[in-house]
Amino acid sequence: MTDRFVVVGAGTMGLGIAYVAAGAGFTVELVEVDAGRAEAGTASLHRLWDSAVRRGKLSAAEADTGRDRLAVRQDLAETAEAPAVTVEAVPERLDLKREVLAAAEARGPLLLASNTSSIPIAELATGLRAPDRLLGLHFFNPVWAMPLLEIVVGAATAPDRVRDAVALAGRLGKDPIVVRDLPGFATSRLGVTLGLEAIRMVADGVASPADIDKAMVLGYRHPVGPLELTDLVGLDVRLDIARTLQRAYGDRFAPPPLLAEMVADGRLGKKSGQGFYRWEGGTKA
Ligand code: NAD
Repeated sequence: MTDRFVVVGAGTMGLGIAYVAAGAGFTVELVEVDAGRAEAGTASLHRLWDSAVRRGKLSAAEADTGRDRLAVRQDLAETAEAPAVTVEAVPERLDLKREVLAAAEARGPLLLASNTSSIPIAELATGLRAPDRLLGLHFFNPVWAMPLLEIVVGAATAPDRVRDAVALAGRLGKDPIVVRDLPGFATSRLGVTLGLEAIRMVADGVASPADIDKAMVLGYRHPVGPLELTDLVGLDVRLDIARTLQRAYGDRFAPPPLLAEMVADGRLGKKSGQGFYRWEGGTKA
């Protein structure tokens, strides 16, 4: 496997994937269309490296090596040809992802991957010239801390590419599961169920968001409650996923009106400073 790694989208997930890939020794090109987000994202990656040095996780020299391995681009056409892997982490919208994957494919990656949380790989593969190279590489947030990598195998995905993905997981320090290509895979289908029900419970006035979360943390040993997790993921991201799952499985995944209202109000969770909790400087207030 060569050492070039392309990540498309410098949002919550793309930044995390880029950080982990650079830490694993890849030369990373991070593609972001929005110049403001590219700048803010690069600054947040540098803060991650600074914090890893402060906490003794990396030496200053290791952090500098990681920084040197990262380059930011505005357009996929500016990236090197034939990277080992290209992962798209743009918003959860089918048309946008298809467009990005087609542009990424034109650069000739060995492995082409989507970080989609819910869209079937077979739907994303429509229109690609080599759908056998595409699979899902579903990372979790925050990418540097979460050990799971969900590898989603599409109907057309070649077995060799699945083997490459499992090897890649090892190099990135992730523990993989290999799952069949059904909407929501093994993780989002279960996780989003819990999140949506917790939001309906807030709307019903069952308890405060903090107490609903506490119920799952203390009563069921979840490391974080479903509402705080929704804030971390982004309410807009959760809404897009719920809509995809609703189309696939029906109204059991219908987004609660409260979720749609909060997104329309710009209360997107940690990234906007307000969701079910208030967030200041990236920390729950
Ligand atoms: P985000 O909104 O934080 O970031 C998406 C980024 O993509 C933005 O910076 C946007 O400007 C950029 N973008 C849009 N179009 C682009 C293009 N054509 N080229 C380059 N960049 C472009 O979204 P996110 O939370 O990082 O989610 C990204 C994907 O990862 C989604 O498919 C989501 O379902 C999935 N996912 C999210 C989480 C999570 O916790 N947020 C977890 C797992 C998977």
